[in-house]
Amino acid sequence: MNDISSWLRYQKQLGIETIPRGSELSAFLDHRIKGKASLQELISTKEYEDKNPVSTDLDGLRKMVDNCNRCELHKKRQNIVFGEGPENAKLVVVGEAPGREEDMQGRPFVGPSGELLTDMLNAINISRKDVFITSVIKCRPPHNRTPAHEEIAACSFFLRHQLKLIDPPFILALGLVAAQTLLKEKAPLKSLRGRFHQLGNARVMVIYHPAYLLRSKGSQQLDLKRVAWKDLQILEKEYAKCR
Ligand code: URA
Repeated sequence: MNDISSWLRYQKQLGIETIPRGSELSAFLDHRIKGKASLQELISTKEYEDKNPVSTDLDGLRKMVDNCNRCELHKKRQNIVFGEGPENAKLVVVGEAPGREEDMQGRPFVGPSGELLTDMLNAINISRKDVFITSVIKCRPPHNRTPAHEEIAACSFFLRHQLKLIDPPFILALGLVAAQTLLKEKAPLKSLRGRFHQLGNARVMVIYHPAYLLRSKGSQQLDLKRVAWKDLQILEKEYAKCR
């Protein structure tokens, strides 16, 4: 394993960015180099992709998620939560994972944090119906626990393909799991928020997750909401230019 890592690191240093064995492989190799993914995950994604050619539209991708059993979470789900919104959305909102309400309805952000998200979007003059809303994980983790690394590694495959198909100019990452997964970063949220990060064609704004804002109390909650509001305003200004 270490040999693979150092060989790949060496290739990277030489400027070789593409490994010609399937489009997702290089992303997983990146993870591996940073010590985040195991070779087993890498192989299983490659095998999965070989057996299930990735659809070229969102409906087909949704069907893939419907049939997905790549991690333990599929066993207890009521519904997958693929995401919803226009295929040509200019903004994709990415959360962490479905909660109880989302699992029951099969729709993203329909619980309490969804209400807050809708208000936050309205506050910057963006209507919920104009954005595509999804999460890193498409099945509910038990008791809303933080998704495990293996679950993120298996499921972010779908998120990456959603983003490829929608190709939005803006992405709003809600919370640490979304931010770190999208940006392949280990940094804490407070150092990722408040500025744009480039991800392919998209500019990614990172803000505190609405559920975190709801969970916090008193003056801490006020402070966090103020910070989130500041970050949303940066997004509003740039988003308005591409309407
Ligand atoms: N929180 C998320 O991150 N995603 C959802 O779909 C709902 C709540």
